[in-house]
Amino acid sequence: MDIKFLGGAGEVGRSGILVRDRKNLLLDYGVKVDDHTEYPLHADRVDACFVSHAHLDHSGYSPAVYTDGFPDMFATSPTMKLAELLIEDSIKIHRRKHEHERVHKAQLKTMLNRYTPCDYGKEYQFEDYKVAMYDAGHICGSAITLIEKYSNGKRLVYTGDFKIERQLLEGGAEIVKSDVLLLESTYANKDHPDREEMAERMIGEIREIVDNGGVAMLPVFAVGRSQEMLALMDKYGLIDSTYIDGMAKAATEIVEQYPEFVKNENLLKDAIRRVQWVESPRNRAHALEGGSVILTTSGMLNGGPALDYITRLNRHSKIFLTGYQVEDTNGHRLMNGLPLDIDGRQFHVKTPFTVYDFSAHAGKSDLHRYVKESNPETVVCVHGSPENTALFAEDLRQEGFNAIAPKVGDVISVGF
Ligand SMILES: [Zn+2]
Ligand SMILES: [Zn+2]
Repeated sequence: MDIKFLGGAGEVGRSGILVRDRKNLLLDYGVKVDDHTEYPLHADRVDACFVSHAHLDHSGYSPAVYTDGFPDMFATSPTMKLAELLIEDSIKIHRRKHEHERVHKAQLKTMLNRYTPCDYGKEYQFEDYKVAMYDAGHICGSAITLIEKYSNGKRLVYTGDFKIERQLLEGGAEIVKSDVLLLESTYANKDHPDREEMAERMIGEIREIVDNGGVAMLPVFAVGRSQEMLALMDKYGLIDSTYIDGMAKAATEIVEQYPEFVKNENLLKDAIRRVQWVESPRNRAHALEGGSVILTTSGMLNGGPALDYITRLNRHSKIFLTGYQVEDTNGHRLMNGLPLDIDGRQFHVKTPFTVYDFSAHAGKSDLHRYVKESNPETVVCVHGSPENTALFAEDLRQEGFNAIAPKVGDVISVGF
């Protein structure tokens, strides 16, 4: 068996790992989105594809496996439904920008008809392999994939994005024993702040804004962060002043259909019942009158209603960034005091902003803990910057693991 890294190695984005054995197994096939779209390397003769979760950097290019073949597809149901929402949206954006389309609706439809809906912890068979998906604790439906060879019992585990620590709607990742561990390394260099203490601090700040008649604006990613922030507003009694707008609404409606994949289902249900859904310009104007919390896409201010809101906030308002802001996005510009690019014109944001680290990824200590408890012979550090993955692999080697940090295009050989 050998493993080829098609993308997402020494970088975050366009994840794609091709396991080449008697059959070719593809783990994730995503895109990297900033100013333009980057794709992973071509995957030859895929027999089965496994999608860890719906975020586009893991799912965005997966329909393309149906260009010249008819492989099996494994994913949880919420992953496929949420991926459908995000991929359809990115097809629309491509059309609007007149960019070359490399993912087509017909392929997406084939994928949705073809996939095996996986339940957490249940075993499935594909040819000579036992296949299972376990809760990754990252977003709704996110999974850690196990591929075990029947012939020799060797286990390959791919974490995708994961978080061990619990979130309001996520119960935390399962640690799965492995021989070869393909591990995300986004935060290999640091631990996250204490979440509850941070949430309370942010809520205090939001409450002050709301009480002063301002708008607390939270630009959020449609999948994951929107639902988590919705639940947070409910938990701290702010839900009746909260509005939700943009793709965040559609994503939340999908998550609601999969209560078995949500921890704290009642909290989410209550939040969905009480939050104000922005359906018209009148609702939006109402939300902007102040004394309100607005959850809206896009999380990096690169599109969606967030760009309309941000130009219309009153002087008592504040912007709360709760997610990672990729370079070359408006969110990144805001953080660096630069004007935003809104439809080609520059906009100087006068509203103050603040940043909170509500990451849905494991921090440094939990990454080390995962390796220790999974106890593999070989660890492959992916989904991180070149510096982070290299240093992390070095640390793990010092702890006695055979650890590597590959680059895109590399092929490694596995002893089974
Ligand atoms: Zn993710
Ligand atoms: Zn990712």
